[in-house]
Amino acid sequence: MLRQAINRQNQNVDTVEAESAETSAMVRKVMNRVMKERVSSKMASGVLVSDELVNGIVEKRIEAPDCRNGFILDGFPRTLAQARFLDELLARRGRWSTLVLNIAVDREALIRRATGRWSCSVDGEIYNIYFKPPKREGLCDLDGAVLVHRSDDNEETVRQRQTVYEEQTRPLLEYYRGRDYFHEVDGNVAPELIAQELGRILGDG
Ligand SMILES: [Zn+2]
Repeated sequence: MLRQAINRQNQNVDTVEAESAETSAMVRKVMNRVMKERVSSKMASGVLVSDELVNGIVEKRIEAPDCRNGFILDGFPRTLAQARFLDELLARRGRWSTLVLNIAVDREALIRRATGRWSCSVDGEIYNIYFKPPKREGLCDLDGAVLVHRSDDNEETVRQRQTVYEEQTRPLLEYYRGRDYFHEVDGNVAPELIAQELGRILGDG
């Protein structure tokens, strides 16, 4: 799954305060109320919001001062039109070097990750009933607060998201393959190993 385009100014990423922004969360935050009703129903059913809308939000967001030294786009671009827009935008701004990562995870594992995910309603700590269950069912280990499950993480919606991915996002692999800043990472292994591999790629500069 194409997850992240990391742009950085410096060669040494350790010195960069990279701003991480999950695009779907960003979409929820930036849009106004009228847009929200239109977009929420789409997001809830697992289809993508329009390129025009997401592109506009990303363009606006990366102008913020906290993106000056670089930023991470998680879940963007998701379509060819978005990728072309991002290329054009970055070329126009010309201040960041680009790194694109594809963290690939098997389909069924991805479904369990999403459908099993619960998070703390207070501190946001993330659990998974298959891989990292809380000690007491439905309650956060850290503070005992109630865990919540995102309504768009039900199996039907997750499968719909995967169909959309196959149709609209998978073509991005061909789009980026062959570019020297594109890296593919095995996302089926333990998180520590993934982090290690990402560190290696980022360290390569
Ligand atoms: Zn908690």
